Amino acid sequence: MKMAKSKIPYSQMLHTNISDSLMNALNHRCEQTGETLDHVVQEALAKSLGVELHTLFQVSTATALVEGVYKGCVTVGKIKTYGDFGLGTYDNLDGEGLMLDGRVWQAHSDGSVTEPTDDSTAPFWVSVKFEADRSGTLESVSSWADLCAQIDAYRNSANLFTAVRIDGLFDEIHYRVACKAEPGETLVQATSHQSEFSFTQCQGTLMGFWSPTYSRTFNIPGYHLHLLSNDFKHGGHVLDIQAKNLKIQVMDADNVVMALPETAQFLNADLSQDPTAALSKAEGAQAK
Ligand SMILES: [Zn+2]
Repeated sequence: MKMAKSKIPYSQMLHTNISDSLMNALNHRCEQTGETLDHVVQEALAKSLGVELHTLFQVSTATALVEGVYKGCVTVGKIKTYGDFGLGTYDNLDGEGLMLDGRVWQAHSDGSVTEPTDDSTAPFWVSVKFEADRSGTLESVSSWADLCAQIDAYRNSANLFTAVRIDGLFDEIHYRVACKAEPGETLVQATSHQSEFSFTQCQGTLMGFWSPTYSRTFNIPGYHLHLLSNDFKHGGHVLDIQAKNLKIQVMDADNVVMALPETAQFLNADLSQDPTAALSKAEGAQAK
């Protein structure tokens, strides 16, 4: 994976007066742990203000999805307490999950988008409280691969999770929506009968994540972005894109919290497989 040439720094600088004892304690912590002053102050502020900005919250694992563990295990109401931005899917793989500015949406395989009730359930979800660490403009995007390469420049490390939000007018966008799975179907079988859609001149937002290669047994490595149009009428899992002048915002996540389902289906599933090939077939741009 290509690394950014230089770190793009946080955009805000804080000047403040603090007591000698707090300053001494801060210096002591930095010496003890090797953390930077920026890191200690950011973490302490986030904790005290209840804004755990750099924590990625995940429900279940990607391997479980590959193995067909689709039973919803956490409610939309609960998911909303862990973040305001993210993506997922619904009970029995019924469409694509979108979470933007604290609202949750369900893209259906007939092309429609609705807001599910808080008691709807999801078998897989990834979310964060989104607050941009870095932002910029993507002047021209010619394809999915080109988009991924351009987002790479906004990431600081191949080993951190990164939340990615992109807003703008998409000249062309191609996306899929999973169809409800039949009992016993694996992810590859279920996504072989997904619905695909193409739109031109779609004003909207892409939301999702870059996940490190080492996360391949529990997340979906690489870029994973979902679309929601500004009129809330179109949405899905992005496969290809062409656009100009997009606003990009990214947030690093260096804490990962995973909630594992206690459903019988999950407890009894064989999750010892390497899901890489199945995931790239089911989730990648080549998926048909
Ligand atoms: Zn997806």
